[in-house]
Amino acid sequence: MDTIPVAKREGVLVVLSGPSGVGKNTVLNVVAKMDSNIMLGISATTRQPRPGEVDGVNYHFKTRAEFEKMIENDEFFEFAEYNGNYYGSPKEEVLNWISAGNAAIIEIEVQGASKVKQKYPEAVFIFLAPPSMHTLISRLRGRNTETEEKIQARYKTACYEVTQAYNYDYIVINDDIREAASEIMQIVHAELMRVKRNKATIDFFVEEAKQDCKDI
Ligand code: ADP
Ligand code: 5GP
Repeated sequence: MDTIPVAKREGVLVVLSGPSGVGKNTVLNVVAKMDSNIMLGISATTRQPRPGEVDGVNYHFKTRAEFEKMIENDEFFEFAEYNGNYYGSPKEEVLNWISAGNAAIIEIEVQGASKVKQKYPEAVFIFLAPPSMHTLISRLRGRNTETEEKIQARYKTACYEVTQAYNYDYIVINDDIREAASEIMQIVHAELMRVKRNKATIDFFVEEAKQDCKDI
């Protein structure tokens, strides 16, 4: 029996946005456990680590000077200032993973996502939304990681951010964590199977058909 060579497919860059406190980290951790082939990009930030956050796992925690050096060296897909701190997604590791035909997800707030859309129009944009704004503020408070003043600032930003959801390709509601994670995985898998990312596989069948069918 002939074996079909696995033709190289094109990988996909997925950008996940959503207001602070909606559950992006929580859901992405479940995605990472469910599918180790999906790489999660680790952002750099100048904000202080929260209790339990680990450098190199949750974020690469940087001083402003270190971060500005990374900007100078063009190490980011994009970077943005959000509520007084820099955030940016380093590109090298993620692009290497994608160029091997895989999927990577980077978590970016909406300003950063629109910059990535200009530079990488072929990327896929998912907006993670809360079941309601009331639920969002409860989650922000329940996380217990910010002062009430900072929570109010993040909520105010969130009121703007949800208006940007129209610009995304997909919307996932984070009501149940596992369900949201599974919906994100379904999107990623479907995107990897799109014809435009699998032209080499189709070429293989077409070539074979041309050889086999020419005398029929
Ligand atoms: P983000 O990364 O979007 O800022 P987090 O992942 O830190 O948000 O989640 C914010 C809070 O909401 C955390 O305390 C988390 O445990 C909780 N949370 C996340 N998803 C859900 C969910 N589906 N149902 C209930 N609580 C959730
Ligand atoms: P937090 O401080 O709650 O971890 O993150 C604050 C906001 O920064 C969130 O909306 C999160 O999505 C966003 N963020 C995380 N990493 C990046 C990044 O690399 N670039 C940009 N622009 N935003 C990011």
